Amino acid sequence: MSLKRKATDSLITYLEDLKSFNVNFIALKNEINSDKIQLSQKKDFKGLDMKTPRLPFDPNKKMELKELSNAIEGCMRCKLGKTRNNLVFGNGSQNAKLVIIGEAPGAEEDKQGIPFVGRAGQMLTKMIENVIEVPRQEVFICNILKCRPPENRNPEEDEISCCEPYLKKQLEIIRPKLILTLGKFASQWLLQSEIPISKLRGKFSTYNGIPCLPTFHPAYLLRNPKQKKFVHEDLLKVKDVYHGKMEPEIEPNL
Ligand code: URA
Repeated sequence: MSLKRKATDSLITYLEDLKSFNVNFIALKNEINSDKIQLSQKKDFKGLDMKTPRLPFDPNKKMELKELSNAIEGCMRCKLGKTRNNLVFGNGSQNAKLVIIGEAPGAEEDKQGIPFVGRAGQMLTKMIENVIEVPRQEVFICNILKCRPPENRNPEEDEISCCEPYLKKQLEIIRPKLILTLGKFASQWLLQSEIPISKLRGKFSTYNGIPCLPTFHPAYLLRNPKQKKFVHEDLLKVKDVYHGKMEPEIEPNL
């Protein structure tokens, strides 16, 4: 994890703790005698509105996936809570060696409460079972956002900020051997990078010491089938690392 990311994460945790003790302003050094900075009125960094409800679980507590899932099922931290039918936590094994991360639930996922069950999901299942050669239920599949954005629009920054502690906790609980990110949003978020997905794909980097490989999203492949060959190449790398036939070569500069 980069130093900048560690510092940002610690700062977020610190501010969340302050809020839980009803601290609702912070006086900054040069403003001690002027207007206090009202946390409750400010849009904070990374789009996190300080009015955002507290996390429904203790991020420092050791827990199982089931406990986390129960804790967040009624989440209303962002506006998507009002429009979703089901929160889509993710599914698969808590002992998964591979975690696959997509963008956000679509209509079918919102209806069923299960990730990747629509057309893109059917393609993902084939990729997992036929190329990586692992039964789908052995991997863990989830998304950056746990709730469907209306009309499947792109995730917004405040939604990602509200939802990211859930994904971080999932990854901390599972601690997989390998992470596969699908598409721009998941890949750029995990790697804290603005490099386009076309440049990130196919190269290993790390998230908290866990090798992570970005590739194109299956929904993109449905629209651009000629790109399938690149994803096939990427999945063969995942297969080899998964089955212990290859060590991932981490690119230092991503
Ligand atoms: N696309 C995603 O990114 N996630 C899903 O769960 C379904 C489609």
